[in-house]
Amino acid sequence: MGGMCDEPIAAATYEEWIDKGWKHILQAHPEMAENIQRMPKDDPKMQKWEEDSHNAWEAAPEV
Ligand SMILES: [Zn+2]
Repeated sequence: MGGMCDEPIAAATYEEWIDKGWKHILQAHPEMAENIQRMPKDDPKMQKWEEDSHNAWEAAPEV
């Protein structure tokens, strides 16, 4: 998940992947989830993370 976690997440679409990844973060890394929720959506770090996530998804082989 965008360099935050190495958990491999299988999904058919980017939206599903983000959704599953977020649920994993909530369960496995609650303090990380809290940090993310505290960040404003226009924070450059969030935008970078979203961009990285998109790139990671595009680079991932089809499941
Ligand atoms: Zn994890």
